[in-house]
Amino acid sequence: MTLAFTHDPDAGTLYCYFTELEAGQAAAEFECPVGLVLDAADRLLGFELDLSAAPALQAEQLELALAHAAVSYTPPRLTVNIGDEPPARMLPLDDPALLDLDGAERLLGVDLAVPEQWRTDTALAQLAPLLVDIEAPPELPPLPEVTAAGEQIKTGFVALVGKPNVGKSTLLNALLGQKVAIVSWRPQTTRVPLRGILNRADAQIVFIDTPGIHEPHHKLGEFMVTLARRAIADADLICFMVDISSAPTRLDQRIAAQLRRARVPRLLVLNKVDLPPRGESHLEAYRALGEWDLEIAISAQQGLGLATLVEEIAARLPYSQRLYAADQIADQSEQQLTAELVREKVLFYTQQEVPHAVAVEVEEWEEKEQRTYIRMSINVERESQKGILIGAGGAMLKRIGAAARQDIERLIGRAVYLDLWVKVRPNWRDDPSALGWLGYRLKDWQ
Ligand code: GDP
Ligand code: MG
Repeated sequence: MTLAFTHDPDAGTLYCYFTELEAGQAAAEFECPVGLVLDAADRLLGFELDLSAAPALQAEQLELALAHAAVSYTPPRLTVNIGDEPPARMLPLDDPALLDLDGAERLLGVDLAVPEQWRTDTALAQLAPLLVDIEAPPELPPLPEVTAAGEQIKTGFVALVGKPNVGKSTLLNALLGQKVAIVSWRPQTTRVPLRGILNRADAQIVFIDTPGIHEPHHKLGEFMVTLARRAIADADLICFMVDISSAPTRLDQRIAAQLRRARVPRLLVLNKVDLPPRGESHLEAYRALGEWDLEIAISAQQGLGLATLVEEIAARLPYSQRLYAADQIADQSEQQLTAELVREKVLFYTQQEVPHAVAVEVEEWEEKEQRTYIRMSINVERESQKGILIGAGGAMLKRIGAAARQDIERLIGRAVYLDLWVKVRPNWRDDPSALGWLGYRLKDWQ
């Protein structure tokens, strides 16, 4: 592909793509100093990265970038200049650039925080031919109404967001025990992926996942970003989790910027208070990232402040009936939960293309010496759906399997060999005996 840029006016960023990004491809980030490359009329021609702080970059790591004629590398400087002439000047930016790397540490793209004066139509005139639109997120179907009568308790969806390694998983594990990352089956719901449900006599807190919230906006119809936006839009409360022991980075800023437009309570959750801060206190810097309804310091690992956190969350949730049966997690067998995890990944990765016409069945479950062998079939209604699920060269099924296996291993606490098969079973949904056979009990929902 040719070099491409996107401009996100909300986040105040320009993103330069060296390759077409796929969901989940950006595996690591790295910050480095950057300057804008300008022509004689002060229009943007590109940028220059100072990679001297990068841990010894190998040629392969830059191959996607250097495949473009506009990109040149004179260590330690990587320059992107789309003009034919040498630039007139270089303007250093205050904010470092954020480099996105894939699992093999190849540079995929660069996120630049560009001051507004350099993002006007005039300043971007030279880059204009390379600017591509960020695709508008597709509409997802609305949630079905919960109509059953029930007692009113504090109930709601809580988005737990934060960059990698701040302690989100640790917190959920501490709050919910082992059974995290489980999605309960709910007819016609593709709302957002759930992480887990905290049940108390007086409250039910549903934690929702925000996949890809820290990923760049892709020009491809990027449903991870869509889901993240939707998770934030749908949440009744947002917990922005940070690591108070180290200073905020661009990634914290980027996520905080995405939360700014949310109209629900936002809690700033300062995790890892058990660690001494590196340098001076970072509280002020985190505070400044947005407007917060409450700041709360916790240690997810040591269990400090968790009870208070739950109280503060519950206090801010609306009264309503339970969204899920109180024993939702407890009353499903391990095998059903495992099948659920696979179904969740199918819905998640195929999104609208295989809507609800899917049921997962455990066919074989064997505790072997090294790992648990699980064979499951994914039942769909049509050949075309089977094709989508398997994907080109089996890529989709592999992706689903890899994601599901991680969650299943966490659930059952053992290494798993997951053997997935896709089967066509026409009209299984209309056949009540098939529903029973697949282990779904609708009564939970009525
Ligand atoms: P996530 O990527 O946000 O889900 O972060 P994880 O929950 O995977 O945690 C990342 C790392 O931080 C792990 O090594 C955790 O053990 C550690 N960690 C999480 N919470 C705390 C905490 O409160 N204190 C300390 N010292 N470490 C923590
Ligand atoms: Mg995690």
